[in-house]
Amino acid sequence: MNRDWLDKDFYDVLGIPEAATAEEVKKAYRKLAQTHHPDANPGDQAAEERFKEISEAYATLSDPEQRKEYDQVRRLAASGGFGGFGGQPGGGFGGFGGQQVRVEDLEDLLGGVGGLGDLFGFGSQRSRSGPTHGADMVTELTISFEDAAFGVTTQVNVEGEASCSKCQGSGAEPGSSVTTCPTCGGRGMVAQNQGFFSFSQPCPQCNGSGRLIEQRCTQCRGTGTEKRRRQVKLRVPAGVKDGTTLRLAGKGAPGRFGGPPGDLMVRIRVAPSRTFGRKDNDLTVKVPITYTEAALGTRIEVPTLNGGVKVKIPAGTPSGKTFRVRGKGISPERGRQGDLLVTVQVAVPKKVTKEEKRLLEELAEHETEDIRSHLR
Ligand SMILES: [Zn+2]
Ligand SMILES: [Zn+2]
Repeated sequence: MNRDWLDKDFYDVLGIPEAATAEEVKKAYRKLAQTHHPDANPGDQAAEERFKEISEAYATLSDPEQRKEYDQVRRLAASGGFGGFGGQPGGGFGGFGGQQVRVEDLEDLLGGVGGLGDLFGFGSQRSRSGPTHGADMVTELTISFEDAAFGVTTQVNVEGEASCSKCQGSGAEPGSSVTTCPTCGGRGMVAQNQGFFSFSQPCPQCNGSGRLIEQRCTQCRGTGTEKRRRQVKLRVPAGVKDGTTLRLAGKGAPGRFGGPPGDLMVRIRVAPSRTFGRKDNDLTVKVPITYTEAALGTRIEVPTLNGGVKVKIPAGTPSGKTFRVRGKGISPERGRQGDLLVTVQVAVPKKVTKEEKRLLEELAEHETEDIRSHLR
């Protein structure tokens, strides 16, 4: 049976007695449907829900076969449980005693809906024109070193399936109407009876989309999709690393016939910087200093991502020494605040003036430190 039947009172939904005639059922439905139709209540979620309920109730009660099954389920439920499950009076699921057996429990017991469906010969295969889930898509985006550090709002070009530009993905020719399917009440699924059982399967009237389209869009033939290039806006978070993949939910290929869209995976490529290197959230920078600066000590100006910072080089600094400037690295949206790692490199002049040469020779005469003693 339909998994919802046990909790639903279709007579109550339509406001009619159990003994109502087919004509009375129809009259009640028409009146309620008019009042609660989504077209008459645009944007009203409650009315839409109510309309679905009404349509579902009508779909069941207007079909003499289904109504008979439903009445049977109601009576069994009212009499205190499902002792008579499977048409065996008083037999069935002893373990459940007098408790009501929920349909979900039965499905668990018997191996799921699919299993039951197979058992009775109707598979869960969707009709070819039913709604399908859009595929996930992958694209790549190259951003500058600075944008990776600070984060950036930008857009990517995506090539491939997109929502139809003529019908905006509705699948309906502009100007033609799209209505909630009355057979399934927009749920896309209907109860299929098989003896006492009934199972959900895609609605034959709307092919499981839950909507009825008056005239199919001529551009996409009702699928709501077409192949084209489109732009997707995205926010790249501060501190993103080269090779990171951002997943944009619902920005992949659109679903066909009203199915849900897939996701878009954007692989981030970070262009290298001329000035900086990067280790996680730390920035690295190499700064040349002269022999005299290294020997005597100095203060030098070092670039950061925003402005310069003064760094003290103590007297006697060897070439290759790294100084850490706290908090001047990358400030990621999540994670540790990075530092700036300044590595000094003693630069040797390629050419010297006469005066420099004279001074260096004089200096050499005064040098006393045996710097290669450890090699002997
Ligand atoms: Zn279209
Ligand atoms: Zn339908």
